[in-house]
Amino acid sequence: MQEKKYLQVGVSAPIDESLTYINNDPSLDLQIGASVEVPLGRRKVKGVIVDSLEKYESNFKLKSISSVNTERPLLSKKFMSWCQWVSNYYFYPLGMVLDLAFPPLKKNSQRKTKHQVIPDIETSYQPDLTDEQQNVIKNIKDQKGFATHLLHGVTGSGKTEVYLSLISDCLDRGQSALILVPEISLTPQLLKRFAARFPDQVAIIHSQLTAREKTNQWWSAFSKEKKILIGARSALFCPIDDVGIIIIDEEHEPSFKQEEKLKYHARDSAIVLGKYHNCPIILGSATPSLESFQQAQAGKYFYHQMTQRVHKQAMPEAQVIDLKQERSGRTSETSNDSELPFWLSRTLYDHIDDCLSKKKQTALFLNRRGIAQLVICPDCSFVYECPNCEISLTLHKQKDLTCHYCDYSAVLADHCPGCNSIEIKPMGLGTEKVENDIKKLFPEARVARVDRDEVSNRHQLEDIIERMENLTIDIMVGTQMIAKGLDFPNLHCVGLILADIGFNLPNFRSHERSFQLITQVSGRAGRNPNDPGHVIIQAYNTEHPSITYAIQNDFNGFAKEELAMRNSLSFPPYSRLALIKFSSSKLDLLEQCVGNLKNFSQKVIGESVNLDGVRALGPSQAPLFKLKNIYRYHMLVLAPTHQKLHHFCKCMLQNKKAIFGNQVKVLVDIDPVNML
Ligand code: ADP
Ligand code: ZN
Ligand code: ZN
Repeated sequence: MQEKKYLQVGVSAPIDESLTYINNDPSLDLQIGASVEVPLGRRKVKGVIVDSLEKYESNFKLKSISSVNTERPLLSKKFMSWCQWVSNYYFYPLGMVLDLAFPPLKKNSQRKTKHQVIPDIETSYQPDLTDEQQNVIKNIKDQKGFATHLLHGVTGSGKTEVYLSLISDCLDRGQSALILVPEISLTPQLLKRFAARFPDQVAIIHSQLTAREKTNQWWSAFSKEKKILIGARSALFCPIDDVGIIIIDEEHEPSFKQEEKLKYHARDSAIVLGKYHNCPIILGSATPSLESFQQAQAGKYFYHQMTQRVHKQAMPEAQVIDLKQERSGRTSETSNDSELPFWLSRTLYDHIDDCLSKKKQTALFLNRRGIAQLVICPDCSFVYECPNCEISLTLHKQKDLTCHYCDYSAVLADHCPGCNSIEIKPMGLGTEKVENDIKKLFPEARVARVDRDEVSNRHQLEDIIERMENLTIDIMVGTQMIAKGLDFPNLHCVGLILADIGFNLPNFRSHERSFQLITQVSGRAGRNPNDPGHVIIQAYNTEHPSITYAIQNDFNGFAKEELAMRNSLSFPPYSRLALIKFSSSKLDLLEQCVGNLKNFSQKVIGESVNLDGVRALGPSQAPLFKLKNIYRYHMLVLAPTHQKLHHFCKCMLQNKKAIFGNQVKVLVDIDPVNML
């Protein structure tokens, strides 16, 4: 029973502060951490009691709590402190963070769900660990309590086996284990490995579960009926007590950052959660983020390396094909390659052909969907554009034009809508075109495409994985959906159709991202101990560091060069970054804000000693300037420490009305990943 008279409640509403309510109903059990309903204006909202006070001075007559929500379990102080950190760090109301800690539906132990969430599987026993695996496990176990470990192991070095061993240890201590993986890697392949080692111990949470499934899984982890929770980033918010280890697999993955609402980074938030639980955090990757790598170099994280594949398989042989030379070669008279589509080199063609004849599989990777990104008229330069976004429409099928941002669609006409010319042409390349061309070139091959147009849900992806496994697919064409986590022993040849895509994206991480993708995609080949596999990388800019270091498996070389660059520009990890985004349908209003924000930034940075070394870049038009009829501007803020960064953002938000008025939407994205 709560004795104190005043209760502070984090309410599920866009209000930054907790609100104070009076406790004058002795029948209510109002403990800290309890979920309640409270009056807010004329409505009632959900909330969580975060604190209680003996005294409270108020000019208003305080309202009382309406009811206690006993459906929702009590939150621990430890967990709420972490939520408070998340709220402060990412500028998101505490009550709305707390709201994420609960499942979507009420608990209902009676109802069984239709699908089986965890695959049935025979128990398997641990293999003899390699020396590298044993070393890493020992070194991690040597550190008691909170510690962040970066596990840097090449693709196929047996990182997952290390996780399994550490989890087993954690369960022996009676504690729960939390494992976060990118949504797309939550495949049956991965779940089977966990379920086989720990039968009846695994709960999972990801976005494709129904609300009922999610609720059941949540309760089984929360109640400790299942001691292992594997999930996409949101699983972090399951308020499990006594977590003994947190593992972030593929820690470099951009998808750990949520882009809307609470713009949190699950990896960074997990490290803070680990502090509260006083447990180890394992960050695993074959291509660590430069943030994590730099922390390891600075001695803040423990660094563990695994340099060899489990069966000492060689890394696949990688070959780079210069598409500039291919093109000039083709126009020469001796060339007989006029039959090949423009995107396909003779070398890659030969390898696909060879794989087919040897009954081995090929994967072709291109990080672009559709047939063409641009339909343009060479006579009048008319381009099909989205009327809602300043974006050209992408061609799909034969005649379907769609906007990849707002789903606007149109039909391709035979004549140019501008000048009636019949020369209007699709330009560019996408997975759909690659698939079409491949089917024409190899009519006997069984081809599957894996991208968001073709594979819209988990079951479809699982189906394709199964067909890859039982060898009823010869050639898989896909976007980054096929880049990670998949392990197919019969996959021999991996082709990157155009490695240059992504080199010049307007994002300071574009080289890092390209390096990671090239390494990860290449790592899909040669999983079989008896077959080293082959990787063919087609590119125009063949000397690009993202390619040259990736093909030599030289992460350290790449990191050194890229970190030097970041350092010289004072970009992360050598500074802290926030992206201030502001948008409106009214361009004139927005342009006024540009001047206001610029003046405000100069003034506040110049005047405040707490903002020494803070830099504001912009404001400028966002790379995607108009989306869904909304105009968008943004400003980058770089600061030597996150305290200074937060101080700047706080000052700006306090002056929000004066800078932006009431009709412009303003968002602060701390440690942004997507800069479009
Ligand atoms: P990573 O996660 O580093 O890519 P995995 O843990 O998936 O690597 O290991 C790659 C393959 O090697 C998997 O099929 C796994 O079952 C197997 N494996 C891992 N460790 C061992 C070991 N010590 N002995 C035999 N096989 C192993
Ligand atoms: Zn025209
Ligand atoms: Zn659009």
